Amino acid sequence: MSADPTARITAVDTHDIRFPTSRELDGSDAMNPDPDYSAAYLVLRTCEGGHEGHGFTFTIGRGNDVQVAAIEALRGHVVGRSVAELCADPGALYRDLIGDSQLRWLGPEKGVMHMAIGAVVNAVWDLAAKREGKPLWQLLADAEPEWLVSQVDFRYIADAITPQAALELLRRGKEGAAERAAELLRSGYPAYTTSPGWLGYSDEKLIRLAKQAVADGFTQIKLKVGADLADDVRRCRTARQAVGPDIRMAIDANQRWNVAEAIEWTRALAEFDPYWVEEPTSPDDVLGHATIRRAVAPVKVATGEHVQNRVVFKQLLQAGAIDVLQLDSARVAGVNENLAILLLAATYGVPVCPHAGGVGLCELVQHLSMFDYVALSGTTEDRVIEYVDHLHQHFVDPVRVQDGHYRTPTLPGFSAQMHQDTIDTFTYPTGGFWAADLAGADPAGRDLAGTEPTA
Ligand SMILES: [Mg+2]
Repeated sequence: MSADPTARITAVDTHDIRFPTSRELDGSDAMNPDPDYSAAYLVLRTCEGGHEGHGFTFTIGRGNDVQVAAIEALRGHVVGRSVAELCADPGALYRDLIGDSQLRWLGPEKGVMHMAIGAVVNAVWDLAAKREGKPLWQLLADAEPEWLVSQVDFRYIADAITPQAALELLRRGKEGAAERAAELLRSGYPAYTTSPGWLGYSDEKLIRLAKQAVADGFTQIKLKVGADLADDVRRCRTARQAVGPDIRMAIDANQRWNVAEAIEWTRALAEFDPYWVEEPTSPDDVLGHATIRRAVAPVKVATGEHVQNRVVFKQLLQAGAIDVLQLDSARVAGVNENLAILLLAATYGVPVCPHAGGVGLCELVQHLSMFDYVALSGTTEDRVIEYVDHLHQHFVDPVRVQDGHYRTPTLPGFSAQMHQDTIDTFTYPTGGFWAADLAGADPAGRDLAGTEPTA
């Protein structure tokens, strides 16, 4: 596995991978009642002995084929490129992809094409980290501040953060970084869990999983809300009784409400002491979030999993619209754009509590939070990474959560690689599971998707 200065990207393989999660109502919320968690997945092949880059974006079922087609539309930018140059400067590819003028028309910098760019860019970072022999968080934490700044596109955000200001933040982040990296390897990074709170679960399952979360060391859980107020009052009361007064309990409406409804509904649930209300309304409604935040304080307002780019995050921060920034590893254009978003959050002093769950989002995003702790914000105070105990067994380097903390990954790469057996089984519609299922066969009654969240 030696580096070859002449090696090129030889192919971009794509896969439409879907898990039948809707059958257990795992992942169900007020806007997404029956998701089949899916990944539009790609592999960058190289002619450099053994090196590959893996990347993906997350969707919830139908439309994953559209997402795969968007990745395929980018193939011409990648095949034939020098592996060494790509890994030395992933930002060059990122700029080429967002700058493709014909594809840019479909955005700009939002939606299906932007998520496809994120998948490709993240695959390059996976490849770069594997070639360096480091987990991605460490590659970023070890990098020179000047180089990190060169990876960020300041267009449209320079009124909030300049390259010089970013450089100063990253230089300050280097102070004490070695001690924090050691602490990270010892203690991991705090997590919270959404597993108890899916909307489709019975009260008995909610109580059992909420108590289990506390026993497992989590200090924060999250409940889906927004379908029916009387149900939400009952479920919030039930969950609060199950976990006691000292556990933080967030609520998540998944964009269900108008602004006035969000305020009314959140106030109606305030007696159960929700820590934050998440996605109360449209992710595009910056001023609506600001209005809600003023009205529901001290309940915090959180959003980000559907915020489509750094420009909208900038406005949410400028407008004082959020208390908690929930970046997503696979919604925006990959690590490069998430560096911009982390720098914006640090500038405004807003804690980042990333969105995760889905397929592989925990695996990816842990690297960004860990970099932020070691070499940017320098703190984990009021910061937690979302954790959902689904589908990790499909990854070669799955997340490990113990005592309410993500253990720090140590294998080289971005933890993005799926097992070949998973790809063979869950490729839609030709993989083993789907071929049998679509033919009407019982796929042996096995829990192939691993959809039972916790014991
Ligand atoms: Mg959410």
